[in-house]
Amino acid sequence: MTLEQAQKALPLKGYLDMPTPKSEELIQEINRLRKEKNAVILAHYYQTGDIQDIADFLGDSLQLARAAQNTEADMILFCGVHFMAEAAKILNPTKKVVLPDLLAGCSLADACSGEGLREFRAKHPGSVVVTYINCDAGTKAESDYIVTSSNAKQIISQIPEDEKIIFAPDKNLGTYLSKVTGREMILWDGVCIVHEAFSFERIAQQLMENPNAKLIAHPESEAAILDMAEFVGSTSALLSYVEKDEANTFIVATEEGILHEMRKRAPSKHLIPAFPEDETCACSECFYMKRNTMEKLYLALKYEQPEILMDEALRKQALIPIERMLEMSKNIK
Ligand code: SF4
Repeated sequence: MTLEQAQKALPLKGYLDMPTPKSEELIQEINRLRKEKNAVILAHYYQTGDIQDIADFLGDSLQLARAAQNTEADMILFCGVHFMAEAAKILNPTKKVVLPDLLAGCSLADACSGEGLREFRAKHPGSVVVTYINCDAGTKAESDYIVTSSNAKQIISQIPEDEKIIFAPDKNLGTYLSKVTGREMILWDGVCIVHEAFSFERIAQQLMENPNAKLIAHPESEAAILDMAEFVGSTSALLSYVEKDEANTFIVATEEGILHEMRKRAPSKHLIPAFPEDETCACSECFYMKRNTMEKLYLALKYEQPEILMDEALRKQALIPIERMLEMSKNIK
């Protein structure tokens, strides 16, 4: 189901008005339900801290895809955004996959459709299509390779050098990958609204005010931010960098949810969220990710909806480039 279809299915929202237990009791009920239903709770690092804390498995896109593929639970409660839950269904179709809020979307996934990508490829005949996992099933089905920010460089380096590459949908990640792999790429014009919002000037000011701090950034950020950064890496790479690096202060240019796990892994380190352009809003929070709440998580477990459903032919087509990705990046943790 695409996000557009999901929005049309909003009669489902009636269950969201059902009563939910409060605080401690809410956690107890979630624990009871997940046991009773043999459900596994998978959560992305960009979820709120309480959801991260209650998850059975916490990870980035690659780690979560693997966890979804390998789980023996009957139900996967996916605390992330729609394309991630959809990827879990593609990889493990016999499981019931539910997402706390069906409207938890992604600006990158919205930026590219399967049909659009097919037309784009037709304008660049002979190219292979490498697509970031942040896209819907229809877009995956039109792709030759799916990548995450953890494995993109490694996968692209395995594509024969004489192949022309189309990279979709994130132009910032594509620009970065083109630089680090030395491969020319034809880029789709999509952005992550969270990473796109970081301000070069304000972060430069933060660095001046914190001369001992190291700027670390996710490659969905713009090139000017990445050029200024001491380290660029995927969500899990940023986590291990903060844990292992000798510096004590880091300015972190990625979605703020990651700070929860960073503080746990590196409690003595001083972590400063990088500033977005807009001084009046918390733009480094992804409002799609933050649509999920503990109450919605409880309701999704209890009523087993909203469920991710998908046409089987589409699922099989989308599975091909995802399996290729998992095979080509087996050695990445
Ligand atoms: S942080 Fe950006 S890429 Fe991630 S889900 Fe939100 S909009 Fe999409």
